[in-house]
Order: sequence, then C-alpha cells, then structure tokens
Amino acid sequence: MIIVMKPNPSREVVQGMVERVEKMGLKAHVIEGTERTVIAAVGDDRKGNKAVFESYEEVEKVMPILAPYKIASVETKPESTVIKVRDLVIGGGTVGVIAGPCSVESEEQVMETARQVKAAGAKGLRGGAFKPRTSPYSFQGMKEEGLKLLAAAREETGLAIVTEVMTPHHVELVAAYTDVLQIGARNMQNYHLLQAVGEVRKPILLKRGASASMDEFLLAAEYILDQGNQEVALCERGIRTFETHTRFTLPLASVPYLKARTHLPIVIDPSHGTGVASLVTPMCRAAVAAGADGLIIEVHPDPKNAASDGAQSLTPEVFAAAMEQCRKVANALDLNM
Ligand code: PEP
Ligand code: MN
Repeated sequence: MIIVMKPNPSREVVQGMVERVEKMGLKAHVIEGTERTVIAAVGDDRKGNKAVFESYEEVEKVMPILAPYKIASVETKPESTVIKVRDLVIGGGTVGVIAGPCSVESEEQVMETARQVKAAGAKGLRGGAFKPRTSPYSFQGMKEEGLKLLAAAREETGLAIVTEVMTPHHVELVAAYTDVLQIGARNMQNYHLLQAVGEVRKPILLKRGASASMDEFLLAAEYILDQGNQEVALCERGIRTFETHTRFTLPLASVPYLKARTHLPIVIDPSHGTGVASLVTPMCRAAVAAGADGLIIEVHPDPKNAASDGAQSLTPEVFAAAMEQCRKVANALDLNM
C-alpha cells in the first residue's frame, strides 16, 4: 500500500511511520516527490493494515498498490525518474545517448570509438568487458583489462561508462570502474544478481530478457528497487519471435506501454533489436519519436573485423549521421538530445 503523508512532514514524522510499517513486517520505501512524501509499504499486506495507517494524524490517505510491481509503479511515484551520471541524462525531457562497441577489444579501438561518439554527441560510452556469448568458444571479453580501458577512455573524454556485469561476485569489481552497470538480457531473471546490483549506489541499465513479458521485466526491476537502488533504466532490446528477417523483433510500443505503468526511464537498443546495421538509424529515429528516454547503440571503427556483433554495429560516420537525424526528431518534440 501507499501511505501518502500530509504536506511537508518532518524527518521524525517520516521515520516514525517507517518504524510502524516495519513493525508490521513490511518493508518501507520512502519516496520524496516534489509535492508529496509517500511511503510504499510492501510485503505480505494484511487487510486491517490500511485502516490502522489511515487513523494517524500525519497521514493524508492510504491506497492499495494494484500493480504486482510496487516500487516501479506510477501508482507509487507519478513523477518520472531521471538518471543523471556525469553528462549523461536519461529522462525528464532529455534523450541520453550511449554508444560504443559491443566488446572492448583494444586500447586503440576503445579510445578511437570514445572520441568519435563523443564528437557526435553521445554522453555515455558502452563496451562489454565481460561478454555473455552463446558459444563458450566465442570471445568472452577482456575482463578487468577491458574495464581499465573503459576507465581510461572516461578519463580522457568524460563520457559516462556503461558496461555489463554477469555475476554477483563481479559486482564490486565492475562497480569500481563503471558509472552504470548493465544487466544483460540473459540475466534479466538472475534474481541474486538483481539483488546484488540493488545494493550498489550506481544506476542500473536493465535489459529485457528476449522472451520476458512486460510484467516479468517490471518485476525484475522491482528486485533491484526493493534493495534500495532507485536508479534503474529499463532497456528494450528486442524479443524472440518466429520472424527471421531481423535478429530479434524490436517492439517500440514497449515505450508508451511502459511509460503508462512505470516512472522508470526507458532506453531503446536498436542494435540488438534488429541485428542489422542498416536498420539501426531508422529505429533510432522511431524510438525518439515514440518517447524513449535514451538510446544505446553499438558503434565500431571497423565493424567487419569486430570481435562481436559487427553486423549490427554502425561506423562512427553513420552514427554521427544518425545522431543528426535523431536530434531533428527530438527538436520537433521539444526534447533535449
Ligand atoms: C550487449 O549489450 O552487447 C548485449 C550482450 O546485449 P543483450 O544482453 O541485450 O543481448
Ligand atoms: Mn552486443
């Protein structure tokens, strides 16, 4: 349930209410909006609790949270969550662009890509150091060496780093280097990993599992939020269908669907969503038009020789042209980009 406090409650009043919620065996999440402070009381909620909370002087009203995802729901927090890290802003009227190679391959490759995507307007640099590959014989990533190269690229360019973490025991290591931790599609339902990144105080980019429903996607985000990390961006990266003309099928309707249900920002990944470089630019434009809060795009200086995902990677020149086009769409909608 959501306990809506009367305007401007003191810290003590909020703390007192949190303690009462916890005494009932529920978890209390305090959400301070610009207008109201609410306490989301989540857990095994019994019928009589609502009336008990309603009886307190400092409480304005108590409402049940109908959605299965409680903290992610717009019912709990109607104001949009905006993620800000370095110059990367995702949401709140700004389309944040993250670009870079699928995998970190060498110092030269990362540095060159970072310089070029920055010049084209990206604010985040992506690059996998720990790679989830379908085959155990494929390139698995440069691991910590790759993280060091990403950090060096940040040092020079100021771009915010986004990189994947695949297992709970690497969370501390990856978090020491990166600005945003990415949870890959294959790990969307790795609940121990979700809880582990929920304890980190850095933003999380949560990718949709290739066969996950929207409720499963939102409940995966809920695992992170439930640990106290309020900075989660949801990334639609395409789902598996019967269709074979693209690598995955990219449902852009996810953007307005999710926006009606969650305050979390939505990022579109047209690279994995299509698997085909020539389809990426039009899908970027469409994603901005659909209201996406961010884009994550694979860019490689030499896609033909990329260690992974070359077929869907843009050259820096094509990426720069895509950015130009997207900026026009963003301008038409009064968005910053
Ligand atoms: C990636 O970002 O390179 C990646 C592996 O993405 P996904 O988890 O969406 O497949
Ligand atoms: Mn990739």
